[in-house]
Amino acid sequence: MAQVTCSFCGRNKKDVDLMVSGISAHICNHCIDQAHLILGEEEKTPKPGLKPKLKLKKPKELTSYLDQYVIGQEDAKKVLTVAVYNHYKRLFQKDEKDDVKIEKSNIIMVGDTGTGKTYLAKTLAKTLEVPFCIADATVLTEAGYVGEDVESILTRLLQAADYNVEAAERGIVYIDELDKVARKSDNPSITRDVSGEGVQQALLKLLEGTVVNVPPQGGRKHPDQKMIAVNTENILFICGGAFDGITRHIGKRLNTQPMGFSKVSTGLDADRENLLKYVTAQDLKAFGLIPELIGRLPVLTHLDPLDKDTLRLILTEPKNALVKQYAKLMKMEDVTLTFDQTGIDFIVEKAVEYNLGARGLRSICEAIITDAMYELPSDDSIKELVIDGDYARSKFDKSKFKQLQVA
Ligand code: ADP
Repeated sequence: MAQVTCSFCGRNKKDVDLMVSGISAHICNHCIDQAHLILGEEEKTPKPGLKPKLKLKKPKELTSYLDQYVIGQEDAKKVLTVAVYNHYKRLFQKDEKDDVKIEKSNIIMVGDTGTGKTYLAKTLAKTLEVPFCIADATVLTEAGYVGEDVESILTRLLQAADYNVEAAERGIVYIDELDKVARKSDNPSITRDVSGEGVQQALLKLLEGTVVNVPPQGGRKHPDQKMIAVNTENILFICGGAFDGITRHIGKRLNTQPMGFSKVSTGLDADRENLLKYVTAQDLKAFGLIPELIGRLPVLTHLDPLDKDTLRLILTEPKNALVKQYAKLMKMEDVTLTFDQTGIDFIVEKAVEYNLGARGLRSICEAIITDAMYELPSDDSIKELVIDGDYARSKFDKSKFKQLQVA
């Protein structure tokens, strides 16, 4: 009888663990392993000309993902997820003959600092699995002046995409502190306003969709630097800002004073604590954004201020809530860490007192727990730690935090 040998490597059947037979060929286990590895490598390498797969997630699906991390902010979540969904539908649109072209839906979020604007954008980008970068509008200036050109934003996006231009061209950019480039006065500038209106003008082009030559390493453009052309047409821009004082404009527009009224002109009961929810494009214009830029940011939403109950939930509920993170750190030392209700209340009260939003929760927790995190790894006798109000207060009062925040 003829010897059975692997048709790929020639090994004899008796020299291998397994030989699979086909119609007129055989393959041994070594060659199967080898082929498996090759397949794995192939899948990882992007094929030129082939668009990477994009999974379209529906708004409710996106919201339930966001809910695991971001507490509250229902309005922002709804508006954001719909805009993102439409944006990606736009990417899938085929060239049909009906002349209906879906336009870009860049977004602007208005909300106090620390209410979760960046966090929302970041969490959203994570679930969409697209490159994401954060840019700060305060460092931008009009081209040719000291500061960064707006193109630097795209350098960051390219870096986030590992210089895969195609991926970057479908990415999300979060531009923080857009309010800081507002025109300083309502009059169109007489003198040049290089860090305000000038930047808004420069951003216009980017937001609208154009091909921009981007210096791959950032910095100033110079003649012999190699540029990468990036088309911004399908990049989703989300802008955010606190727009301090915009409530004055909103109040004025509602034809009443921000304080001391009960009905707004629409007949709705006005929520005096949260005038931001009535924000419109008109208020952004009154604040100092140029109408052309507002026009390129058609989706407008607001973030609610964080009250005590929300802060409490932020501290304890999300998937990676702070108390869960500290408990995990302590578990690695075989210590069971719990926060009782009075401890949580103390942290929340301090965050409100120092007006730090959710960002303050972390620094307050650090001030309280650092001593324990220093001592416990070297002390095997302690297996349990409960942070209650008294413990929290005693540690907090001793910490530098107090002096630092008051200063
Ligand atoms: P903003 O951009 O509005 O100034 P951030 O998004 O940077 O604020 O928020 C700071 C931090 O506070 C976030 O990293 C997050 O941990 C936490 N945080 C803020 N708002 C929320 C929220 N609604 N739900 C959960 N965590 C939040």
